[in-house]
Amino acid sequence: MSKRDLLVLAGDGIGPEVMAEACRVAEWFIGKGRIEATLTASPFGVSAWRDSGELMPASTLQRVREADAILFGANGGPEYDAIPHALRRAGSLLRIRKELDLYANIRPVRHWPELAASCPLKDEVAGGTDLVVVRENTSGLYFGEPRGIETLADGRKRGVNTQSYSSDEIERIARVAFTLAGTRQGRVCSVDKSNVMESGALWREVVHRVHREEFPRIELSDMLADNCAMQLVRAPRQFDVILTDNMFGDLLSDCAGSISGSLGMLPSASLGARRADGRLPALYEPVHGSAPDIAGQGVANPLAAVLSFAMCLQYTFGAPGEADLLLRAVRQALADGARTPDLAASGSRRVGTRQMGDAVLAALGSLA
Ligand code: NAD
Repeated sequence: MSKRDLLVLAGDGIGPEVMAEACRVAEWFIGKGRIEATLTASPFGVSAWRDSGELMPASTLQRVREADAILFGANGGPEYDAIPHALRRAGSLLRIRKELDLYANIRPVRHWPELAASCPLKDEVAGGTDLVVVRENTSGLYFGEPRGIETLADGRKRGVNTQSYSSDEIERIARVAFTLAGTRQGRVCSVDKSNVMESGALWREVVHRVHREEFPRIELSDMLADNCAMQLVRAPRQFDVILTDNMFGDLLSDCAGSISGSLGMLPSASLGARRADGRLPALYEPVHGSAPDIAGQGVANPLAAVLSFAMCLQYTFGAPGEADLLLRAVRQALADGARTPDLAASGSRRVGTRQMGDAVLAALGSLA
């Protein structure tokens, strides 16, 4: 396995806190010779804005283009919101997704038996859930044109965003979902609003064509997005792979956070198409945001960032055994009782961000 160039963009709010622990874990794998990689950070986000007037300086964009994979923290917050829209877009996570064409956002959601007491759903409802949301990541409502806020002739204002999908955009994300399902339980549930949206009707038509022509052995079902939100908290075990668009994927995967016990437990990988030289454009990030309400307090749960690095081990390093070791170490840390405040049930041992990182490293040491 050749040496990989990993770029760390810690970003805003709790991003630097959780990324520090993910980096300690990455350094453990490098230090033990289990993977070969360099880990370097570049300025990004509000701290870069304060220093240079740019959220993503040109040198960082250059690194984004050349790195083998990006480990990303979080983006956003009150200071970020005060920056004009156009400047924000030029230096945003969405810009990186578009720049690298990271069209496939893969968000695994599992129920952790160790966290049953922290899970808001009853054990008999959520126990055993193991699903993946495959979210289209570079089109749809978050990217469609026209967009903007305009002032009408009578002085009223109007905000506009456009939901738009072309057939090729739907085809390629459908292939990701069907291929992934083939490595799991073989079931895809495609989620749309085809009852009220033309883009949803096209979504359904194209997903079924790709299924019929290329993946007839995979079981395909359809569900309307509003029903899916309800089913995720009513009977989440019914799902294997959920295939959906950019905005529904954003909302539904946060909703699925309740199954894992906290948003702080949800990792993700954003992947592009493998290039001719074999490289896979990839960015790994927790599903959660910058959590300004707890930033700087040393209490954020770093496990979503750590588990995102496990996805990096799987996809960028092609090392599923190492990814599994890290998953088992997280389980071990939880089984040993470590709980950041978002996970803490009454009577459990509360730890901070750093101590949770310590617990994972200790578990890695004992399991390796
Ligand atoms: P959020 O995910 O930041 O926080 C939602 C709630 O979950 C908060 O109460 C927060 O304290 C808690 N939480 C989130 N991550 C946690 C963790 N690791 N440990 C413990 N608790 C955690 O969402 P929000 O508050 O709606 O958004 C805050 C900012 O983050 C906004 O500016 C938003 O645009 C941005 N955002 C960024 C991303 C991203 O970078 N990919 C994703 C979502 C939101």
